[in-house]
Amino acid sequence: MLIVMKFGGTSVGSAERIAQAAALVTASCDKGHQVVVVTSAMSGVTNALVDAAHAAAKGHLDTALRGKLYERHKAAADALIPDATARAAALEQVDRRLDRFEKLCYGLSMVHELTPRLLDAISGTGEMLAAPVVAGAIAARGRASSAVETTEVVVTTDQFGGAEPLMDQTRARMSARIRPMIERGESPVLTGFIGATADGVPTTLGRGGSDYSASIVGAALDAGEIWIWTDVDGVLSANPSEVPDARTLAEISYSEASELAYYGAKVLHYKTILPAFQKRIPVRILNSFNPGHPGTRVSVEGDASVPGVKAVTSIRGVSLIAISGTGMQGIPGIVAKAFDVVAEQQSNVLMISQASSENNMCFVISAADAPRVVRALRTALEFELARGHIEEIASQPAAVVAAIGDRMRGTPGIAATVFGALGAQRINVIAISQGSSERNISLVVAEADAAPAVRALHQAFRLDRAAVAVQ
Ligand code: ADP
Ligand code: ASP
Ligand code: MG
Repeated sequence: MLIVMKFGGTSVGSAERIAQAAALVTASCDKGHQVVVVTSAMSGVTNALVDAAHAAAKGHLDTALRGKLYERHKAAADALIPDATARAAALEQVDRRLDRFEKLCYGLSMVHELTPRLLDAISGTGEMLAAPVVAGAIAARGRASSAVETTEVVVTTDQFGGAEPLMDQTRARMSARIRPMIERGESPVLTGFIGATADGVPTTLGRGGSDYSASIVGAALDAGEIWIWTDVDGVLSANPSEVPDARTLAEISYSEASELAYYGAKVLHYKTILPAFQKRIPVRILNSFNPGHPGTRVSVEGDASVPGVKAVTSIRGVSLIAISGTGMQGIPGIVAKAFDVVAEQQSNVLMISQASSENNMCFVISAADAPRVVRALRTALEFELARGHIEEIASQPAAVVAAIGDRMRGTPGIAATVFGALGAQRINVIAISQGSSERNISLVVAEADAAPAVRALHQAFRLDRAAVAVQ
């Protein structure tokens, strides 16, 4: 079977971790599988690159970073690639990419302007540094491997900072470039997170996007499975760093996985599921620190025997925008105008809620977009504000908490449990929305209430206990 294995930042964070990743790859090859690797940057590298780019655009060059990054990758290469020629080749590639990074930063420090296009060219460097070292480590274990920069094979739109794959062109390039490597018995190591436009301008898929890369690569190659190696035992019933007794969900459906990722479970980039789902490729989320654990399997059916809520998630760093006024009733078009403005501002709406009296509508967007969107709304709805149809357009920092499960549909009493649990903790719910798919209930709460709300819901639905199948 062809398996695409993606290793996240902590799973390639040091020589020791890369050794473990290489061992996991070669163990699967020894079992007769073909493996294509997708690697993230070593942990912390992307953040350092992004910070350096912003600093350079303000005229501050971080002259030490190039040396630090080189030393970190060299230390890994020294430990993992015993063959001197192979090691020198990997390090030459690292040096070439660092050279380009340094020149780009120098350019930014001259022009004092950081465009999304340049930020992508810089922030995608981390994966380019990691791939030759990971490939060298696999080759050192006796399995032929070489690094491939996905700027060559993943063709995307030019939405810098959040590019979308163009699957037909990507598929054609993957067939031409990667398929022959697999057929020769190699395990190529592809860079996650990055791609390029058809003209070759580098792009990124958005922060955390290596998961998405794995799914794109898996779909383009018609892989048998996609394995996401991370630092926790799969997808859990809540973020384990927030809810210590969260449990691994052994089996979830594609739709549950998408909802979880969309509503803040960082373990999967929110776009990861679609390419895999379109090809019905099973996805596994596994722990590279605990590889014996079976992790989570994402499939069409999920675990249909478990009713009700399976997981609780939260999204932080959002703002609730409320448009209110008694005169909004019966005035057509206010909602349409408001969402036109949000779209013009290229802001993504995470959740919408409208009171049935029509006196108030509210929606949630990223906090970073809020000041801009509110300003644009006040301009676009100037007439309605002047006439008093709208009394207020307000924004407040908030968090979204979501309870998720395919079989919430047809399970009565869920809303009552949600509100009972939050009420008991005196957590104020600012707005609610239930998708018509009935796969989630999402609530807006004050930011400070997010963690207590997640814990209260996890407890109320007894998610710390093994799921019991209903007869
Ligand atoms: P990687 O570098 O492997 O891509 P990430 O840090 O992006 O790893 O994602 C894994 C992290 O996601 C976990 O360490 C955990 O803190 C966080 N996380 C949030 N919600 C969940 C959840 N429901 N299940 C598992 N992990 C979660
Ligand atoms: N290295 C990228 C990031 O930190 C992509 C990823 O790790 O998924 O955002
Ligand atoms: Mg990640």
